[in-house]
Amino acid sequence: MEQKFDVIVIGSGPGGYVCAIKCAQLGLKTACIEKWVDDKKNTKLGGTCLNVGCIPSKALLESSHKFYDAQKHFSRHGIMSKGLSLDISAMMQRKNSVVSQLTSGITGLFKANGVTSIAGTARLLADKQVEVTTHDNKTTLLSATNVVLATGSVPIDIPPTPLQDDIIVNSTGALEFNNVPEKVGVIGAGVIGLELGSVWCRLGSKVTVFEALDSFLPMVDQQIAKETLKIFTKQGLDIKLSTKVTGSTVKKKKVHLEYQDSSGKLQKEVFDKLIVAVGRKPFTGNVLDASCGITTDDRGFIAVNDKCETKVANVYAIGDVVRGPMLAHKASEEGIMVAELICNQKPEMNYDLIPSVVYTHPEVAWVGMNEQQAKAKGIDYKVGVFPFAACGRALAADDSEGMIKVIADSNTDRIIGVHCVGPSAAELVQQGVIGMEFVASAEDIALTIFAHPTLSEALHEAALAVNGGAIHTINRKKK
Ligand code: FAD
Ligand code: AMP
Repeated sequence: MEQKFDVIVIGSGPGGYVCAIKCAQLGLKTACIEKWVDDKKNTKLGGTCLNVGCIPSKALLESSHKFYDAQKHFSRHGIMSKGLSLDISAMMQRKNSVVSQLTSGITGLFKANGVTSIAGTARLLADKQVEVTTHDNKTTLLSATNVVLATGSVPIDIPPTPLQDDIIVNSTGALEFNNVPEKVGVIGAGVIGLELGSVWCRLGSKVTVFEALDSFLPMVDQQIAKETLKIFTKQGLDIKLSTKVTGSTVKKKKVHLEYQDSSGKLQKEVFDKLIVAVGRKPFTGNVLDASCGITTDDRGFIAVNDKCETKVANVYAIGDVVRGPMLAHKASEEGIMVAELICNQKPEMNYDLIPSVVYTHPEVAWVGMNEQQAKAKGIDYKVGVFPFAACGRALAADDSEGMIKVIADSNTDRIIGVHCVGPSAAELVQQGVIGMEFVASAEDIALTIFAHPTLSEALHEAALAVNGGAIHTINRKKK
């Protein structure tokens, strides 16, 4: 007999697994179907984020930062690190064990919350019936009152650089090199390209990043982006803007790369590894049977409204497979919103307050509107900036590059954006997100007591600076 659920979630990434847990917590009979298996055919829960995305990349960013710090900065603290060496396979093993700890954690959470975990590839048919094909090709039919599509995304490939073995790789391959390549090329100066480029640069590779656009991090406040480019260049990343990769050949395990430089001239360069990081595209594979009534748009996304409802009643889609930033926390929040909607609650997600982070060192983080957006919208705004070079805690930590910036509406003093490049930028901007969620004004933050000495004092000072009241720096002229 066909098994029936209140909710079937397809995909166990941060969108799907969080949605499934929330549905079960709200008392719904819930199944989550996942197709990903390891080499021993065991199901791998957690999607891109846990297996080949956020978590393994952060594990390597942490390890490589420790190495870089020990090599370049420890001596300033009187700690001599002569004879320092690298064991890449130990580094990779640690990364892998962090991943398995977290993925098996989801198995535990599913059990504890009563989510039925189903291994196999799902296909949505008519009337919310779901066909599951297991890895040994057995097919079963399930049905549900509600279906949530959370099938995520995959890396984009480009014709000039087809992937080849462990030589031309995407982000997944770049998390698995088993030695430090001498020369690494990265295509794309987006978040993923910069993070992975930083990992290998810190470990000793000579890294060149090729970016077709003429501006660096165009989605970031341009004052912050300019500062970031300066810092990264100083760290040794060679970032070539207005440079388009046009072709590649692999000869004797080396990549011969062709590109058009910023003056339009064709150039050639040889690399040991090439990382293609030109973005990600939504993944639907064969999940949408023609009978299900849902199709994708011309970019491959499933169309949804602001409640993640598709055009078929009681079928939802969340995460990377729908519009909006491709971020794990956005996927998870959509998962929670959908679970609550299914239970007739009235959740709302504030898409204007999704924080973004580049987890380099220093980190780059932001939320809300930047100066160029405020200008384009004709908003009368004021700005407060505070450099970490004037922050006692940052200096004590020998980590004082960068700045934090608060933008507020000139008429209401309401904070409309917080932007940062600096130590723990992600955590600092998160304080801005909380403030903005509660409609804080710059004065509200200015009147808040911050512990001394903390990095958070930089946010305090930037908020004070908005109205010309910073204590530890010269206030920027009011707009
Ligand atoms: P996914 O995580 O892609 O999960 C989808 C799941 O669905 C997969 O497990 C897939 O196997 C499964 N699936 C697909 N089709 C079927 C089917 N037919 N049947 C059964 N199962 C199916 N985001 C951040 O917020 N912070 C970061 O620091 C960050 N770092 C990243 C670093 C890298 C290198 C990469 C590649 C991504 C990073 N991201 C980061 C992005 C983040 O990983 C994604 O936004 C997030 O994983 C999207 O979640 P999701 O649930 O929508 O999809
Ligand atoms: P993101 O989508 O943020 O991960 O960024 C990917 C980046 O790759 C974008 O900024 C693109 O401009 C860049 N890109 C795409 N194709 C090429 C190419 N052939 N050469 C250089 N850069 C590219």
